[in-house]
Amino acid sequence: MMKRNILPLLLVLLFGSCVVSKPVVVPTPLPSPDPISVAIPKKPRNVILMVGDGMGVTQITAGLYSNNNKLNLERFKVIGFHKPHASNKLITDSAAAATAFACGIKTYNGAIGVNPDTVAVKTILEYAEENELSTGLVATSTIVHATPASFIAHQPQRKMYEEIARDFLKTEIDLFIGGGKRYFDRRVDGDNLLDILKLRGYDIDTYLEDELPTKLDTDKNYAYLTADSDPLTVAAGRTYLPGASKLATDFLHTRGKGFFLMIEGSQIDWGGHANDSDYIISEMLDFDEAIGLVMDYAEKDGETLVIVTADHETGGYAINPGSEMGKIEGAFTSDYHTADMVPVFAYGPGAEAFGGIYENTAIFDKMMKAFGWKR
Ligand SMILES: [Zn+2]
Repeated sequence: MMKRNILPLLLVLLFGSCVVSKPVVVPTPLPSPDPISVAIPKKPRNVILMVGDGMGVTQITAGLYSNNNKLNLERFKVIGFHKPHASNKLITDSAAAATAFACGIKTYNGAIGVNPDTVAVKTILEYAEENELSTGLVATSTIVHATPASFIAHQPQRKMYEEIARDFLKTEIDLFIGGGKRYFDRRVDGDNLLDILKLRGYDIDTYLEDELPTKLDTDKNYAYLTADSDPLTVAAGRTYLPGASKLATDFLHTRGKGFFLMIEGSQIDWGGHANDSDYIISEMLDFDEAIGLVMDYAEKDGETLVIVTADHETGGYAINPGSEMGKIEGAFTSDYHTADMVPVFAYGPGAEAFGGIYENTAIFDKMMKAFGWKR
């Protein structure tokens, strides 16, 4: 009985609206939208690549469990893995790995922006300059250290710090912040590259005279040397990375041309080499604070692709039994890097391309594609 009564009701509910609703009005077509904006998916105006040197999954996890089970990295929804091996070794160093990100090539350990035949290969930072974007580098190592160096310099060996510093003069980098003042102004060749940069219109501050400013004159390029050699550890009082990351994004944004910025949390790796869990965790959390500020910017801006990854894992780090939330019992299998795959986190226009598993060189390919550039 009930069923027979419900069926017509259902039919009315399902199809009745077609009968009772007003005739469909075909709207007058809107002027057809600009075909270019329809055909091309949304491109980022800015790309910020953040490299946690030596930041494997365990380093991230140790930071997480030491920080009330919370990290800014959790704000990323697209996650992938890259394969970090070098051209000549399964276990990469920072130079070969950063050159893979910067130039899209596998090369040998120690190579700075050069291929296995030591021939210079154009970097993403140089492509950005060629395309009239602003550029920047921020690091908590010296600014001539392997990771930042591979984006701006071309040298056969990573230890050629003075040659790498001179390569900065071959670019028009808008901003750089990091240690290594001595490689610019106390050189074997006697040249003072900071004076040369000033003559070229750079504003230059150093740790000797000034705190890192919170705002910059946007008419001038800017450099801040944070130490004579290596900057301090977080534990010894270094605090500049989050502020420098915010300063860099704000400054490059106000330049109004779009930008490429690389930010490195350099010393997560050094904690791994030292087999020092507390060192890793404090550097990890400092880097994560910088990630948070960059994400605040990117979420507001809406045109910024943020990629966070590492060059490699360091230490064969593990969180051993006996660990508790807030108390990590770290263990290590090595005082060098390991060959573990490395996580990649991406946010913003073009982020979807970073899901999956791919070679470290694909980070370069994906950034180039996001910008719409061809090698
Ligand atoms: Zn290392």
